[in-house]
Amino acid sequence: MRNRRAALAAMATAASLALTLSACGQSGEGGSKEDKGSAKGGTIGIAMPTKSSERWIADGNNVVKDLKAKGYKTKLVYGEDDPDTQVSQIENLITQGVKGLIIAAIDNKSLNNVLQQAKDANIPVIAYDRLILGTPNVDYYASFDNEKVGELQAGYLVEKLGLKDGSKKGPFNIELFAGSNDDNNTKYFFGGAMKVLQPYMDKKQLVVKSGQTRLNQVTTLRWDGATAQKRMEDILTSTYTSGKVDAVLSPYDGISIGIIAALKSDGYGSASKPLPVISGQDAELASVKSIIAGQQTQTVYKDTRELAKVAGNMVDAVLNGKKPEVNDTKTYDNGSKVVPAYLLQPVSVDKSNYKQVLVDGGYYSESDLK
Ligand code: BGC
Repeated sequence: MRNRRAALAAMATAASLALTLSACGQSGEGGSKEDKGSAKGGTIGIAMPTKSSERWIADGNNVVKDLKAKGYKTKLVYGEDDPDTQVSQIENLITQGVKGLIIAAIDNKSLNNVLQQAKDANIPVIAYDRLILGTPNVDYYASFDNEKVGELQAGYLVEKLGLKDGSKKGPFNIELFAGSNDDNNTKYFFGGAMKVLQPYMDKKQLVVKSGQTRLNQVTTLRWDGATAQKRMEDILTSTYTSGKVDAVLSPYDGISIGIIAALKSDGYGSASKPLPVISGQDAELASVKSIIAGQQTQTVYKDTRELAKVAGNMVDAVLNGKKPEVNDTKTYDNGSKVVPAYLLQPVSVDKSNYKQVLVDGGYYSESDLK
């Protein structure tokens, strides 16, 4: 529960923002005031988790672009990875009279009260990329096939090690990292990866020398690269006094960068002690450059332009009394209901296909990657 001062501050901000908004409304195109009946020209609130990772900046910008093209105004906020901040930001958006909400949650379980307020104000809610749990007040879910993300990461590792085609038998040493335990995607990424890795672990072709194999032993709070770096350092010191790490399952590019830093300060990255095969996610610029430089090995690309479009289509459809397009009505049970979802397909990217996927696909230009 936030304290009273914070609540008062939030109310004051909300009131002043509401004033600004209504002033905009009055002087806005055609001088039309926002009325409850027509959504077009109304404002959609977009709550993103953090600006500390490029992908969310791209997501926010792409959602704004898509909604503007559809004739909406937008209000984009970032919660700086603090669940309480995100809750008060969403409260403010509701107070300001937004017509719809698109939310990428920081903590999947902290939004129940504020989403009840959205429901009471008749505001549809789209869960963006991360499912919101424990509330019926989430209407649709726009995401990627999250289990597939983990399968692509782990599938890449076993392929690169030569285990998949049987050209090598191992045993190879692997260490496992997962995302934040308050992000619903984490268990899907890890679950998808373990589906691929477990059979090799059972046959001792893959060995987790640290012994840390359960999800609750390998999560990384708020996906923080420095936290992962510290954990990798601890594992190297405690477990790898002999032998070397051959592969690392990393769920996200920022975490991969931290892991690589730990490995390099332990002497990895030379001909006699090469860096392990290491996965990632999001095709963030620093990681794509790292892949080109031969350090991180792979990432999973998820086109945020497409995800923004899916979420924009969903909110637009609901506000116009239509049913949004969905392609999954059974996977994403949030504990209160199965949330109808539209899932996009993630793509594995490494040195061999980054040009084709990321540059030809217009996600980055050649000069971005210099
Ligand atoms: C997203 C990933 C991202 C991670 C960290 C997850 O919810 O699905 O794409 O890497 O959060 O920001």
